[in-house]
Amino acid sequence: MHLGDQFASAWEKDRPCGIIIPEPNRRGDLAVRRILIWASALMLVAGIALPIDTEVYRKRRAWMVKTIQREGIKDKRVLEAMAEVPRHEFVPDNLRRYAYENRPLPIGFGQTISQPYIVALMTELLKVDKDDVVLEIGTGSGYQAAVLSKLVKKVYTIEIIKELGEAAKERLRKLGYKNVEVKIGDGYYGWKEHAPYDAIIVTCAARHVPPPLLEQLKPGGRMCIPVGSFMYQNLILIEKTKDGKIKQRSVIPVMFVPMLGPNLKPRR
Ligand code: SAH
Repeated sequence: MHLGDQFASAWEKDRPCGIIIPEPNRRGDLAVRRILIWASALMLVAGIALPIDTEVYRKRRAWMVKTIQREGIKDKRVLEAMAEVPRHEFVPDNLRRYAYENRPLPIGFGQTISQPYIVALMTELLKVDKDDVVLEIGTGSGYQAAVLSKLVKKVYTIEIIKELGEAAKERLRKLGYKNVEVKIGDGYYGWKEHAPYDAIIVTCAARHVPPPLLEQLKPGGRMCIPVGSFMYQNLILIEKTKDGKIKQRSVIPVMFVPMLGPNLKPRR
C-alpha cells in the first residue's frame, strides 16, 4: 500500500456515514470559468478603451482651446477652465464627434449649446473672481455654468424648459460640479433670493435688458447679455459702478436663441 492510499483509507474511516460528497460539477465549473474569462476580457477592453477615449477628447479639447486663443481670448484662467470641462459630455451622444469644433450645436427643444469662442468671450468679459457669486439665465446643457463654476464660488442658473433644466441638473451632479445650482423658471425675473450677484450672464437674446437683472447686479458688478431682435443682436457688456450708475458698451454682433416668456413664446 502506498503512503497515499493509507491516508485515503484513514480519511474514509473517519468520515461519518451517510454524507455524500458531491461529484465535482464539471459543466458548472466550465460555465463559471467561461463567464469569468469573458468578464475579465470585457473589463480589460473597457479599461483600455476608457483612457484612450479620455485621451482623444483631451487632445481635441486642447486643440479647441488653441483655436479660441487664436481668436483673441487671453484670460489664462478662462482658457484653463475650458481645457478642463468635458464639452463632449454636454452635447447629444450623436454629436460628440463635433463637441470640440468651434461652433454651436443643437441640444434639443430648438435650443443650442453656444460656440466655445462665445462661451470664452462672455466668461472673459465678466472678469470673475474666485469668491464671486454668479447668475446665469439660460442653463441649456449646463456647459457655460460648468465653465464658470471652475472660476467662482457659486453659480446659480435658471432654465425655462423643464426637460433641459432637469437634464442639466443631473449632468452637472454626475460630473461633480458641486457649486452649481439649477432652477427651472423664467430668468427674466432673476433669482432674488441669492442676489446681489457679482456677475450676471444671459445666454439667450433679450429684446431689452430685464430691469430685475439690473437690480440684482451688485454695485461694481458686470453683466453680459445679447440684446436685439430675432436674427440680429449685439453682445452688450454692462457695468454697474460702485455708486450704482449703469455703463454699457456693445462688444460684437451675435446670434443667440431668443429669451422665452410665458408659454415658452419668445418674449417681446
Ligand atoms: N448656456 C447654455 C446655452 C444656452 S441656449 C449652454 O451652455 O448650453 C439658451 C437657453 O436659454 C435655452 O436652453 C433656453 O431654453 C433658455 N431660455 C430661454 N428663455 C429663457 C428664460 N426666460 N429663462 C430661462 N432660460 C431661458
